[in-house]
Amino acid sequence: MSTFTNHNFANQKALIRVDFNVPIKNGVITDDNRMRAALPTINKILKDGGSVILMSHWGRPLKDIEKKPELTLADFSLKPIIAPLAKLLNTDVLFADDCIGADAFDKARNLKPGQVLLLENLRYYKQEEKGDKDFAQKLAQLGDIYVNDAFGTAHRAHASTAVIAEFFPGDKKMFGSLMEGEVAAAEKIMHNNEKPFTAIIGGAKVSDKILIIENLLERATDIIIGGGMAYTFYKALGGQIGNSLCENDRLDMALDLLKKAEEKGVCIHLPSDSILADKFAADANTASSLSNEIPDGWMGLDIANMAIEHFKTVIGNSKTILWNGPMGVFEMDKFQHGTKAIALAVADATKHGAYSLVGGGDSVAAINKFNLAEQVSYVSTGGGAMLEYFEGKELPGIAAIKK
Ligand code: AMP
Repeated sequence: MSTFTNHNFANQKALIRVDFNVPIKNGVITDDNRMRAALPTINKILKDGGSVILMSHWGRPLKDIEKKPELTLADFSLKPIIAPLAKLLNTDVLFADDCIGADAFDKARNLKPGQVLLLENLRYYKQEEKGDKDFAQKLAQLGDIYVNDAFGTAHRAHASTAVIAEFFPGDKKMFGSLMEGEVAAAEKIMHNNEKPFTAIIGGAKVSDKILIIENLLERATDIIIGGGMAYTFYKALGGQIGNSLCENDRLDMALDLLKKAEEKGVCIHLPSDSILADKFAADANTASSLSNEIPDGWMGLDIANMAIEHFKTVIGNSKTILWNGPMGVFEMDKFQHGTKAIALAVADATKHGAYSLVGGGDSVAAINKFNLAEQVSYVSTGGGAMLEYFEGKELPGIAAIKK
């Protein structure tokens, strides 16, 4: 496997799978972070004297059109990306209306060093998500070398994210710089971590996080559990949780996890106290109590002071930290304090030499909300992909390149 950094792309046509699935409202991009994340890869290739063919999906055209027949493929076009991308790259961006076929092929063949070609949405074709070999081969014909820089879709065995790699020899397929960074960060946490290794797992449901917790029981020294999922554990242990979020069909599973942790010598930390609300709303009345003594009519929506102090100590003693999922309903000001305190504690531990990775959905939104993204070691761009990686699954997008 070649590495991106030491490959010279001069006079080569690099076919790059990017993740330009950016939010677009009324034809305007409202958050271009995913495009910015691909810039180092594109710029390095252009600087080397190569040319770039970009392919991406956007939305779920075929599925959405089936549900809403008033929509057409044009509603899912990548055309609104052309001008903003040209601005970010400071160069013209050519466009092919179809990601395969004669026009795309000709435009790709005529591409000169330094030029950029963007292909229309891959998901206009159902073959993309099906991982169709013929479709992948047609895409593969467009470039001399395949670069996968779409970590956000690395957990999908789609034509452009995994299957396509079969059509390139080992030295002609590689991760881009974003993907290289993601894979290196994830591997460091999973396989090369310094102990004590604390995993902070939060969010709404235990059922969503069961696989990641089970896998972390093999690796972490401490697991902090916060957010709505903590109350299923307290209920399973016989506590009173009032109207807090609870998955009654997961009580046995919660007890089983606690038992496994004890057997393996992994310390599970539950939030001893909670900030309570009398309704699930930003203007709710609030109170606090022990997390296993929540009165009826109240629900736990954040961790409270004792829990925060306890978690801060655990985090402060850690050399490796993985954070996935908020400690409370951080979207509402009254219930953001716990998540913010944990974000600050992770930043502080990082300052004192710990390696920290924040990944997977809402904890990334939280670290950004508190402007602390620069103060942790790594913030992952791939929500679902990162989660599956930490569940111990092999990601097809990674495996296809490493094969
Ligand atoms: P997840 O996507 O599973 O990581 O869950 C994130 C969501 O969990 C966020 O939208 C939070 O508002 C929500 N959440 C966190 N803590 C609680 C809680 N105590 N009760 C209800 N929802 C919560």
